[in-house]
Amino acid sequence: MRADRENPSRPLSQDAVDAERRRGRGARTNKTGRFEAEVHEAFDDGWESLGDLDAFKTEVVEEAAKSIISHNDSPDVSFDSSINPYRGCEHGCIYCYARPSHCYLGHSAGLDFETKLYAKPNAAALLEREFSKPSYKPETIAIGGNTDPYQPIERERRITRSIVEVMARTNHPVGIITKSALVARDIDLLGPMAEKTLARVAVSITTLDRHVARAMEPRAATPPKRLETVKRLADAGIPVTVMVAPIIPGLTDHEIEPILEAAREAGARDAGYVLLRLPLEIKDLFREWLA
Ligand code: SF4
Repeated sequence: MRADRENPSRPLSQDAVDAERRRGRGARTNKTGRFEAEVHEAFDDGWESLGDLDAFKTEVVEEAAKSIISHNDSPDVSFDSSINPYRGCEHGCIYCYARPSHCYLGHSAGLDFETKLYAKPNAAALLEREFSKPSYKPETIAIGGNTDPYQPIERERRITRSIVEVMARTNHPVGIITKSALVARDIDLLGPMAEKTLARVAVSITTLDRHVARAMEPRAATPPKRLETVKRLADAGIPVTVMVAPIIPGLTDHEIEPILEAAREAGARDAGYVLLRLPLEIKDLFREWLA
């Protein structure tokens, strides 16, 4: 049994979900969200019944969103308007700063965040309605400021694509942030938009080490796939920024220069970084993972 370094008598992972049940996921635990009145805790009653529980499967709930463009005035965020076609993210990055927001839905920031996903199929219709308002003032909208718009469920649902289609049709500027190779599927829309300086894409690359990436971002594209995506986008004339985000001191900070070199080689024009932050539930989730 592993122990908490600050309190060696306390087991660090007493809430850890069985490894088989969370295979291919980032979080080790699924603690009750911070807004819940009751805490749910699995325990073994001596019959080894925990071993009978099913593995965590990805579930998607369709929600009828009432509005689609979010606004923020934070000086820390590089965009004012954003759209998130999905809530939760199957990529399962352990450090993901969107995790705590899953607690607003009554879920855990741990495994629930990676497996209980919400999709907004009416996103494109809402956007068209928004654009047609006489008071609407166009400004670049970021797609994916919170959760990844090209996470695996986009392959079939195509909600992000439907949003980009509306923007392409209306000549509306867009910035996309992703860790997925699936964004290259939409080059047919983004390429012509880029010709009119209406589109740019930021690809996050945190490490070039496949083993670290697999453990840290289990269902996001591998580092070589992300570099290949940078190249495909750049070759299509789409301006690409590489985001070294987040930088994890002691684990990935030595990779900043190699990542920048590889991304420049692939065709990225700009670069940015974000340092690791561990607010709210992410602090414990990250420590459990690191242990
Ligand atoms: S890809 Fe982005 S949104 Fe998805 S889990 Fe990773 S950091 Fe979070």
